Amino acid sequence: MKALTLTAYNEFEYGDAPNPEIGSKEVLIAVKACGVCGSDIHGMDGSSGRRIPPIIMGHEAAGEITQVGDAVTDWKAGDRVTFDSTIYCGECESCKSGQINLCPDRNVLGVSCDDYRRHGAFADYVKVPEHILCKIPSEVSYEHAAFAEPVSIALHGVNRVPLKKRDSAVVIGAGLIGLLVIQALKAKGAGTVIAVDLDEKRLEMALQLGADHVLISNDEVPAKVRELVGNADGADIAMEVVGFGPTINLAIESVRKGGSIGCVGNLKAEVPFPLQALVTRELSVFGSCASAGEYEAAVQAVADGSIKVEPLISAVADLKDGGDWFHRLHKNDEGLMKVILRPGAEA
Ligand SMILES: [Zn+2]
Ligand SMILES: [Zn+2]
Repeated sequence: MKALTLTAYNEFEYGDAPNPEIGSKEVLIAVKACGVCGSDIHGMDGSSGRRIPPIIMGHEAAGEITQVGDAVTDWKAGDRVTFDSTIYCGECESCKSGQINLCPDRNVLGVSCDDYRRHGAFADYVKVPEHILCKIPSEVSYEHAAFAEPVSIALHGVNRVPLKKRDSAVVIGAGLIGLLVIQALKAKGAGTVIAVDLDEKRLEMALQLGADHVLISNDEVPAKVRELVGNADGADIAMEVVGFGPTINLAIESVRKGGSIGCVGNLKAEVPFPLQALVTRELSVFGSCASAGEYEAAVQAVADGSIKVEPLISAVADLKDGGDWFHRLHKNDEGLMKVILRPGAEA
């Protein structure tokens, strides 16, 4: 098969790679669409240490099953599917309690680190275990279905916080995940939603996708949030989708006493933390990692349009040109959102 392999940091080769051989509980999928994730970009240049070459990246994918293992009963060739980026064991305490994202044996497709290497979906074919598959309704395109992974992350982030109907929320960071979080909040019944970012284009997009108000990120944000939500104390919920000191601060300063902060972004390993504000205002902070069972809801949200992904697609390109797109995304000077790569194999 053909694959786009990261052969060294910042270097790609599009060429022949061995066809994956499936085990008895695995299926082979002809990949039809695979999105480039921010984590792939931070992996490509070696900064995250999570894509040690050689590796075929790609974990936001959709395609058609071409072959199933002996023990696979629920799936057949021809099924249109997407799949969780996380391969969990299904047997441990975390998995049994539904917290599959916390499984100690968790592998992520298209990742290679010190513990494991698992090739992903920037290839004609990818193999995955049947228990992470999710069916795609016929009306959902492969390109849209490839958003199931980032959408599931947004849904999980919103599921982590105690959001009640008509609660106000501020979303710090209107990048791809932030724009999905805004939509996930609205879909779950949030009241006033305010988006905060440095980039005006992103804020325009936030308005288009359902934010009620947008604010350029600066020190005045907490005061303006209080005005806009009509509560002198602040918003009920803040979702932090960046992950560094100043934005964590904004999130904490923007919520009311007793409010909650959902932390999805994690750009930095450590940030200064306004501890006294947290303690004296009795705030709750919720970390959110990947997703834990939100996949079907994610596909459903894309299918019924409650979460719109089409405006987030900057380009759909051939996999063979993937290296160039990676470098353009890495440069980050064109305002690109999601780039989807399409392998060439026929199912
Ligand atoms: Zn991703
Ligand atoms: Zn497990």
